[in-house]
Amino acid sequence: MEIRHGTAVSPGIAIGPAVVLDTEGVHIPHRTAPPDQLDSEVARLHRALDEVAAGLRADRDRMTARFGREFGNIFAAQEQAIEAIRKHTESRVRTDRYTAEYAVSRVLRDYVKRLEDVAVLQQGAAVEARRRASDLIGIERQVLAALLGNPTDPFANLPEPVVVLANDLMPSDTADFSPRTVRAFATESGGPTSHTAILAGALDIPAVVGVGRFLTDVSGGDTVIVDGTEGVIIIDPDEATLVRYEAKRAELLARPDRYEALRDKPAVTDDGVPIRLLGNIELAQEAAHCLDRGAEGVGLYRTEFLYLNKAAHPTEEEHYAAYCAVLSTLGPNRPLVIRTLDLGADKFASASGALVNEKNPFLGLRSVRLCLDRTELFRTQLRAILRAAVHGDLRIMFPMISTVTELRHCKALLRAVTEDLEDAGIPFKRAVPVGTMIEVPSAALIADVLAREVNFFSLGTNDLVQYTLAADRNNEHVANLYNPVDPAVLRLIVGVVRAAKGANIEANVCGEMSGEPLYVPLLVGLGIRQLSATPRKIPEIKRVIRALTVAEAERVAAHALSLDTGRQVTNYLRDYLRKLLPSEAVD
Ligand code: PEP
Ligand code: MG
Repeated sequence: MEIRHGTAVSPGIAIGPAVVLDTEGVHIPHRTAPPDQLDSEVARLHRALDEVAAGLRADRDRMTARFGREFGNIFAAQEQAIEAIRKHTESRVRTDRYTAEYAVSRVLRDYVKRLEDVAVLQQGAAVEARRRASDLIGIERQVLAALLGNPTDPFANLPEPVVVLANDLMPSDTADFSPRTVRAFATESGGPTSHTAILAGALDIPAVVGVGRFLTDVSGGDTVIVDGTEGVIIIDPDEATLVRYEAKRAELLARPDRYEALRDKPAVTDDGVPIRLLGNIELAQEAAHCLDRGAEGVGLYRTEFLYLNKAAHPTEEEHYAAYCAVLSTLGPNRPLVIRTLDLGADKFASASGALVNEKNPFLGLRSVRLCLDRTELFRTQLRAILRAAVHGDLRIMFPMISTVTELRHCKALLRAVTEDLEDAGIPFKRAVPVGTMIEVPSAALIADVLAREVNFFSLGTNDLVQYTLAADRNNEHVANLYNPVDPAVLRLIVGVVRAAKGANIEANVCGEMSGEPLYVPLLVGLGIRQLSATPRKIPEIKRVIRALTVAEAERVAAHALSLDTGRQVTNYLRDYLRKLLPSEAVD
């Protein structure tokens, strides 16, 4: 049994067989074989090892002929490794009743683990140990490919829903997960505001990210527990642990939602100031979750998810249908803020792949930069938005704006699309409110200029934090730097709120920060009157708002602004929340 800790990003407990996705998506469907099949498993194992060894021999001969014996010997060492594991793997099949695949994976991963330990403990031997470990991982892949054929869809023909374990997952991977096939997932890399983490919350799949290296300790088919509430994963649990977690899981499922009673209560501070609570969605069907959780509408629709994993870009009609579906769930009077495409960086449409090959995609052709470069993509979406706006309270918001020129270009394109629709006699709404996200420090610094151009601001703190502190939001190694209440971030927020007030427009927050109860008193105290968060978080935020007075929140904000470090601010806010809600656990 192995217990690992990571960052909890989507609550709940799941228990199930592992599907280990490495970079090539290889997975092992079954861990053990029935006793009467062991001879045939052993025969399969030897056939696969023979096949890989023959391939390596051919490579060795080819390389020796072309470049000399020295190069050929690289393959000779791998051939020897195959012979070295032959006996060991066969004995695991016979004694442990492992399938050939599982025996190969288990034995090789144990070797790799030992080599990695050597690499950590003995600096002098580290380079050689890592090289041998990487050779063994390569051999594991080849033998598994010989046993399983070419890697196919890892989720095809699964006998039961699985727990996905991977080094990292792209949002496009996660977007296809459904609770029917994937019970939970855990990744070695990643941070709490990564899009993959956000999507896990949206799909209601328990998830833990940033666990650090653990994939060598696990093979496909192993039983794994993911506790997405506590941020724990347990590989190969013993019987007592399994029983304990099964009970915990059943208890969680049976527990009445302690915030249920709050759903229909207004989000008003104790001294009577309304704070508008909206939901963030990635998929049209989540609009219903927003209403279930007591949101007053949708404050951020991440429309780029319409593009992920599609063979072709969505048509104008597909955009239109998705927006109309959300509006019909919300009804005519609840707002829907459509954020235009934020493709690029970690979100690529399969129809276009990585649209350009970039060394620094987070600083590259992402979001409106991409839209202004591929205007046909942008026009299609803008036409659909203006047409759908006829059916409800729709607003439009541009992401990743970093200069006022960019914002003006977006608005000019919107005007051009308006004229096209008018000329064609297609019904649409002209007076759609236009906002900009503030998620790049340059935008925050010129907020007074941007404020003259738009009807509202929405602070995208996930990106604002990463770009202000130069700390990748997906990288667990810099998670200590990535702090939404770092004084640098707070000063930018103060400037944005002030600029918005000066221009008489609203500044809202739609990054993950707004869904964190800890930050709510601070944000209200800074003058924020609308928060848009993951629907699941809305009742908790409402609970804080109803306990708070604006005067007190302003005192909290003033004190937070006087502190020197993000850590001091966090500790201060924690103490404050403990006092505000003494009966709640604050961690
Ligand atoms: C943000 O950056 O805070 C935001 C809401 O946008 P996304 O998380 O989709 O980048
Ligand atoms: Mg963003």
